[in-house]
Amino acid sequence: MKVQVVGSGSMWNAYNSASYKIDHNILVDVPNGMCKNLFRQKLNPIEIEHVLLTHFHGDHYFDMPFFYLLKSKSEKNKVTVYCSKEGIRKIKKITLLAFPNSCKDIFKELDLKYQLQNSFQIASYKIEKVLVDHGRMAPAYGYLFHQNNKVVGFTGDTSLCETVEKMASQCDYLFCDGMLLKGTKSHMGIDNITYLCQKYPNCIFVVSHLEDETRKAFKKLEYSNVVVPDDGQVFDIE
Ligand SMILES: [Zn+2]
Ligand SMILES: [Zn+2]
Repeated sequence: MKVQVVGSGSMWNAYNSASYKIDHNILVDVPNGMCKNLFRQKLNPIEIEHVLLTHFHGDHYFDMPFFYLLKSKSEKNKVTVYCSKEGIRKIKKITLLAFPNSCKDIFKELDLKYQLQNSFQIASYKIEKVLVDHGRMAPAYGYLFHQNNKVVGFTGDTSLCETVEKMASQCDYLFCDGMLLKGTKSHMGIDNITYLCQKYPNCIFVVSHLEDETRKAFKKLEYSNVVVPDDGQVFDIE
């Protein structure tokens, strides 16, 4: 499995908003600017066939209209979106707002499927969608990828909750919310990651959705199983 951290930042800094590309055709989240971020990293969003969305804050899905428009004009027009039921309505709504005249054509030309189930398969990955706790934004989901004997997780935005602990206990790599100096009801912080990385030493925590001051503080701590990624950094997980 190859994971590229397309974005590791929070909303208010020069880093891209948190998102990941897995192998050549899977995305986790499609934040503001995602298509451009992919092009800048020499990736083409046309290749993407599977989009896993964690929740419906703008910094996790607002580039969907641009992605849909591009795919609808391509021969590679097949895409499956994994999300919640109300998410489907929200994506349709912002696509209509973004492109009022061509919205109908976009949906006509796309070979589009939505997948609402909590477990599914993409290529050789068995994937579980798990409920996390992102404060007032509910539902919010994380994803667990199982392949052979490896487990790789993506928490999405979340506070420290039971599900995150379960993910940490079974993951080889956990790409996780580590936004703040101190965790809140909506996001994890350095205090939460410190607790997790000591309790689950077999898991490598790749922290993301980072405020600049948090990024700086994480780098100073030099925990052996916490990685502070740059945008575009690739993890080859075998
Ligand atoms: Zn959020
Ligand atoms: Zn967010």
